[in-house]
Amino acid sequence: MKYVYTLQEGGKRMTSLLGEKGANLAEMTAMGIPVPPGFVATTDACAYFLRTGNLPEECEAQIKGRLPYLEDLAGKKLGETLTVSVRYGAKVSMPGIMESILNAGLNDETVKNLAREGGDNFAYDSYARLIKTFGVVILGMAPEKFLPSGSAKRDCDAFKKAIEKEKRRFPQDPEEQILECVRGIFRSWNSQKAVDYRKNNAIDNAMGTACMVQAMVYGNLAGSGTGVCFSRDPSTGKKKLYGEFISRRQGEDLVSGRLTPQPLESMKRSFLSAYAELGTIASLLESRCRDMQYMEFTVEKGRLYVLEAATAKRAVQAAVRAAVEMAEEGFITREEAIMRVNPYEADALLRKTIDATASKIVIIRGTGAAPGAASGEIATDPKKAAELAATGRKIILVRKETSPDDIPAMAVCQGMAAATGGATSHAVVIARGMGKPCVIGADMSVDYETGTVSAGAAVLKEGDTVTVDGSTGEIFAGEVPMKEPSASNEFETLLSWCDSFASMKVLANADTPKDAEKALKLGARGIGLCRTEHMFFGERLPMMQRMIIDDDKTGALDAMLEFQKQDFIVMFKAMNGLPVTVRLLDPPLHEFLPDADKLTQEIAALRKEDKDTIQEEKILENVSALREKNPMMGLRGCRLGIVFPEIYRMQTKAIIDAALETGASPEIMVPMISSWKEMEHVKKIIDDAAQDFMTKQKRWANYSVGATIELPRACITAERIAEHAAFFSFGTNDLTQATYGFSRDDAEKKFFTKYFKDGILEENPFATIDRHGVGALMRIAIEKGKRKGLKIGVCGEHGGDPFSIEFFNSLGIDYVSCSPYRIPAARLAAAQAAIRKKGISS
Ligand code: ADP
Ligand code: MG
Repeated sequence: MKYVYTLQEGGKRMTSLLGEKGANLAEMTAMGIPVPPGFVATTDACAYFLRTGNLPEECEAQIKGRLPYLEDLAGKKLGETLTVSVRYGAKVSMPGIMESILNAGLNDETVKNLAREGGDNFAYDSYARLIKTFGVVILGMAPEKFLPSGSAKRDCDAFKKAIEKEKRRFPQDPEEQILECVRGIFRSWNSQKAVDYRKNNAIDNAMGTACMVQAMVYGNLAGSGTGVCFSRDPSTGKKKLYGEFISRRQGEDLVSGRLTPQPLESMKRSFLSAYAELGTIASLLESRCRDMQYMEFTVEKGRLYVLEAATAKRAVQAAVRAAVEMAEEGFITREEAIMRVNPYEADALLRKTIDATASKIVIIRGTGAAPGAASGEIATDPKKAAELAATGRKIILVRKETSPDDIPAMAVCQGMAAATGGATSHAVVIARGMGKPCVIGADMSVDYETGTVSAGAAVLKEGDTVTVDGSTGEIFAGEVPMKEPSASNEFETLLSWCDSFASMKVLANADTPKDAEKALKLGARGIGLCRTEHMFFGERLPMMQRMIIDDDKTGALDAMLEFQKQDFIVMFKAMNGLPVTVRLLDPPLHEFLPDADKLTQEIAALRKEDKDTIQEEKILENVSALREKNPMMGLRGCRLGIVFPEIYRMQTKAIIDAALETGASPEIMVPMISSWKEMEHVKKIIDDAAQDFMTKQKRWANYSVGATIELPRACITAERIAEHAAFFSFGTNDLTQATYGFSRDDAEKKFFTKYFKDGILEENPFATIDRHGVGALMRIAIEKGKRKGLKIGVCGEHGGDPFSIEFFNSLGIDYVSCSPYRIPAARLAAAQAAIRKKGISS
């Protein structure tokens, strides 16, 4: 079995076997890009090792057998001057989550040879690093055992002693070192940090890592340095070489976030030709891979070596701009551009931004490293930050340096700031991918003991609120006013492409004219759900209560008719010919009345003061009469309209009146239909009221009547319901509730956590549609509805969930309707679903 591939044998397609790092380096080697020679032990070897605790014998032999090859290509010999790095690398990149070992091959003798080449400092510094990483990564010792003393030579002795005392003698034989490192890398696949990261990012545990042995090049020599670069700006997507560089350092120093590097342009001073070559390689790789690139590189005595390249992780803002520009450059197709943006990240594109006109005080300045703005309380300890955030507090993590160790805390905080570390360090690369605003190189000092942050004269404590702007690098005191978000030009462009590919339309759930306007701005193609009950709250509530309580409802109904009509006029006008679906009153009436206990107390208080309580008692009587054991299954939806037809008559009149005034063709939706008889009955109430009104007016409006499908029985008997309906709209929230029998108000609090933990539920069915149960019912109803030529939509929360949208598209639904801010993500998801479907069928 072949367990080892040289970089000359491998290629880009071998990521499963060689890891992304190995496969890409092999590809670059083939392209003639300068890459130090090396070979890769495969993920198969890793799997074997994790199973048995040993390397396969053949693998060990193959590694040993490839060492002379490496010596040949490098022109140096192990045990003399050749040193190697031993690097992890899985199919999916996990930057900074595991650790690679540099400078293997150094021992008490070879370090002297290295010293002759580059001086004592350089040689012993490199050796000390090897011993330390060997202790920490391979032997699992605590990093505190390896604190530098200021003299690298002394450190080497001290570190070796520390290892010998706690574990074993530090191996002097280069070959033994290399094999030990390979085993250590494989073992670290299952380190706690790696396991946690994979769990949080849904990365398969079974995939394992490959392990590369590669000749070292030294960035810590004179005339040398190391850096990271992106082919486009990872925060904005702007097309321009972007990156950072440090002279006389090894790459680890930069990506770990311990040191603050210089901008890439600083290379122009002493490394002009390497800088130019980097630009050439970046565009070469971009056109080869057809996407934005990330590169780690080292310059050794003026010569450039690429040590890693991959598709760049980027902020979603950058993903959008790069995708649109690449499509416009003719580099990729519009479909590809659409597929490059993750719809679950799209909401970050609509986050509020700092209001430039608001008065605010900058207390700290740094470099903006991940876009977006966020406010929160300062916390300097990642563990505490995560705990506070878990209780719902908004936290800004403030650190001395950026470290991959802080990633779990970053994930739950609003944003972060650090004094040192660059914008290309691994921790920041990940923060950017997570959409967390981030300021680095901030001009401040952080004291972990006291939890204080000082910047100039200002001293901030943990718990103080600040606002970070990850685009400008400014940190402000307190919570700074934000302005309403709007989509960038590139995002608008992308969304307009989306609409041309999507087969489903995206409509809005909007109950007020203000929502309708917002929805239009965000690209809604109509209103799929206007919940009329939301028009009865606020100052209109007393009127609604009178309607419920009064025996003669005429007065209250007349007043409400006027309100409703005016609302509909504004809505219809705003939508200017786009479809508007109005749902008749749905919730149980007691929701509009005050709470019985409170009312009883009020009455008692009034009596004490000898005041009249007739009105209150009447309300209480009604509240008690309307109270139900199971209000969710009670007198609501069309049942309400059947028991109190005057309510639906009033609503119909208001809708038709507004339609006559505006020329709209409203779609009237009846909630909670469970049988065709209900549908037939309510449709007649609506039609009679409409005809009656229009005959009196001698003017005619187009309208249609449809059913909300939100009960299992409606799905099963959809065929007959369809005979009386012009459209179906799935109320997936209630349908999920009724299908599972889970209360959507209580289930999450009461037992979902346990269900998730025990693996009974994988996802919250109220957020992501349950394809097997609820979805199967939908399929039945859709098939029956389609046969009768009905228009079919979804108006539940699921209508804004990308994963659910993919499923709805496969069912052949005509539109989804969701709350205004979810519209852009839904448009994106709808287009992606259509493109994927086309890809599968063609
Ligand atoms: P990570 O994924 O954590 O960046 P790497 O395997 O890329 O781990 O190693 C970290 C850093 O070590 C790299 O950025 C690079 O600068 C340095 N490095 C790795 N291999 C070599 C090598 N052969 N020569 C010089 N530096 C190396
Ligand atoms: Mg790397």
